[in-house]
Amino acid sequence: MNLSRLGEFGFIERIRQAVSATAQSGVRIGIGDDCAVLELPPGELLLTSTDLLIEEVHFRSDWSDWRSLGEKSVAVNVSDIAAMGGRPRHLYLGLAIPAKRPLADLDRFLEGFLAAAADYGALLVGGDTCRSPGPLMISVTVEGATPANQVVYRSGARPGDGIYVSGVLGDSALALRCLRDGRSPEAELAERHYRPRARVALGRALAEAGLPSAMIDVSDGLLADLGHLLRASAVGARLEPGRIPLSPGFRRALAAEPALMELALSGGEDYELLFTVSGERQSRLAALPGDLAVTRIGTVTTADRGLRLLEPTGRERTVEARGFNHFDG
Ligand code: ADP
Ligand code: MG
Repeated sequence: MNLSRLGEFGFIERIRQAVSATAQSGVRIGIGDDCAVLELPPGELLLTSTDLLIEEVHFRSDWSDWRSLGEKSVAVNVSDIAAMGGRPRHLYLGLAIPAKRPLADLDRFLEGFLAAAADYGALLVGGDTCRSPGPLMISVTVEGATPANQVVYRSGARPGDGIYVSGVLGDSALALRCLRDGRSPEAELAERHYRPRARVALGRALAEAGLPSAMIDVSDGLLADLGHLLRASAVGARLEPGRIPLSPGFRRALAAEPALMELALSGGEDYELLFTVSGERQSRLAALPGDLAVTRIGTVTTADRGLRLLEPTGRERTVEARGFNHFDG
């Protein structure tokens, strides 16, 4: 079966049926009317974020398995909700589909999308579907919520705060490097690239405990996203690259090729949480559940110090907070 036989409305009905098994509190109407009709828990604020995924820009259909792509398109969006300390609730899916795209690919994509949505406790409540004369384009919008006094912004970091990151960095970028070089990445690295996980439980735990002064998710690369946080907070930072948490696979590759450190600093698509915590609160990080490990990687300084890296020699070097930029030549 292809999409032209099924038609736009047949395709939407297929999505509606796949979703209808799942109920979610606060959803009066999801797919099927002109708008979704939704409630938020009393006292919570609405958090909204949207992301585009374009074939040949964000993914290559010859590298992608469609189910993973569905999962990833949810995770990268949900990661933004996690970075504000929220919990995801609703998803919207816009699809511009080339007429030739086999329906089986889209079914696999939806399978992954819906499985990830269910995992994060979010429901697909709407979207739009049309034909694309060019590449496949996927637009995902996520809505989340968090108690009004628990929203964590990028702008609250103050000199003296510790800088922390969750998980490990660089795996996704290293996997992508291997793919570009025509080699297949180690399974664990590939997993981090194709199936990143949004750190919702950690974001919630931190926000609920009132620990972060500022937070962002690492999507463009550590230096770039730290740069965003520093600018929003009007502060600088001293980063200690030697403390950046790395996976065993990444360490093995790094031992053979020290220049790969660049990928942990600027690689992108880690979807870890990067946050700052003020002096006396830092001791409370130890009380987080064990699977929510975080690592201190630096200290917030005053804005005039800029972003500096502390080298093994003890020397400090000023760096530019550069990361992935879609419009780089
Ligand atoms: P309208 O013409 O009013 O925009 P549509 O025919 O585009 O309505 O959509 C009908 C319903 O199906 C709406 O509830 C819409 O949110 C939903 N919908 C359309 N495309 C998708 C999709 N790709 N994923 C989820 N829901 C969708
Ligand atoms: Mg529509």
